[in-house]
Amino acid sequence: MRFNTLRGMRDILPQEIHLWQYIEEKVRKIFEIYNFKEIRPPILEAAELFLRSIGEDTDIVEKEMYIFHDKKGRTVALRPEATASVVRAYIEHRLFNNPPPQRFYYIGPMFRYERPQKGRFRQFHQAGVEVFGIAEPLIEAELLYMVKRLFEDMNIRDLTYEINSIGCLNCRAEFKQLLLDYLENKVLKLCSDCQRRFQRNPLRVLDCKVESCKNSLSDAPLILDFLCDECEAHFEEFKTLLKEFDIDFIINPKIVRGLDYYTKTVFEITTPSLGAQSAVVAGGRYDNLVESFGGPKTPAVGFAIGMERLIEIFKDFSFIKPKYPTVYVAYATEELRKDAINLARFFRDSEISAEAVYENTSLKSQLRKADRFNAYWVIIVGPEEMKRSSYRWKNMRNGLEGEATLEEIVKLIKK
Ligand code: ATP
Ligand code: MG
Repeated sequence: MRFNTLRGMRDILPQEIHLWQYIEEKVRKIFEIYNFKEIRPPILEAAELFLRSIGEDTDIVEKEMYIFHDKKGRTVALRPEATASVVRAYIEHRLFNNPPPQRFYYIGPMFRYERPQKGRFRQFHQAGVEVFGIAEPLIEAELLYMVKRLFEDMNIRDLTYEINSIGCLNCRAEFKQLLLDYLENKVLKLCSDCQRRFQRNPLRVLDCKVESCKNSLSDAPLILDFLCDECEAHFEEFKTLLKEFDIDFIINPKIVRGLDYYTKTVFEITTPSLGAQSAVVAGGRYDNLVESFGGPKTPAVGFAIGMERLIEIFKDFSFIKPKYPTVYVAYATEELRKDAINLARFFRDSEISAEAVYENTSLKSQLRKADRFNAYWVIIVGPEEMKRSSYRWKNMRNGLEGEATLEEIVKLIKK
């Protein structure tokens, strides 16, 4: 019997894990500098949580969610995103009793039953943040500034900051009527999903990814033209702040975000180097969600970075070294095999990563193995050297070698 990963799922193997760890560390560092605290909600939640927050007429909930019944017949889902979980936790643990702003971040796998393709997986990873308690656009601007710093730090260029405002429930009421009138005589040209959305949630039609729908909606009215005074002022201030923070942006009035909970500011960061799946960061404000889940009225904003896509555009990783370069301990003659194993143990006790040869084999074959293990150092336990309380060492990267006492060797390696 042979097994393979499920379609759209993949193993992240040890040979690429340095890259993941490096990037996760970068992300954690900048989030923590901005006083975000990590939160780890479970991966499995009540499906209802996502139906209610993301919205029933969205692609994520309609088509992409891993949803099933557990043994008690509860309808559960693998999380397609983490915002809903963070909001649930915020309310469940009454974290709103702490003084605002409350800042959370998460890094972890998300699940969406999508058609796998470049930059699109069924299990993928997001690193994201959520801030609760700040109504001012200053926080959106700060969040974008924070990601900009992350990108700069990783030497990633060629990014476009695309922003939009989708207003609040007030602005949407008028817009919705206008949109319905507009869609009325187009509806037969739309895909079957959109025909249903037209009835239930017409705004969703604007987010359809089907090419023919996009084309027939190219002259659709834009919500940006229907903002109420408050939303308009919020958006204006947001743009002013972005300029102050030296963030080049474009206004993309077509960004509506495929989730129900957004209000006012929405944004995406895209790059041409990713091809069709061009968005690497997406987020926005959601001022009504906490309240609609039974919490106190709480303004909130967040974003998520697609980690696979971040890694894809982070080309500059040749310099990333393994955290613990491995020392390979070999023995010159069979009687010293045990000494070699003991020496490896000594190294590990001294916080030096070590590998040793456990079977009986020639020195030549041990050195070949050291090479294949990609060892950084080789230390050879030899009879003559033992008498002098020393060992032969070789740096496998630059070829330098010599003989030294254990103390000297530890110093050398730790340097
Ligand atoms: P897209 O338009 O690419 O489908 P989305 O709007 O569905 O993205 P969000 O739900 O906003 O994406 O998720 C935020 C980020 O997570 C995206 O910008 C992307 O980088 C990443 N992402 C989303 N879905 C996937 C996936 N199936 N595989 C890999 N990364 C993904
Ligand atoms: Mg999607």
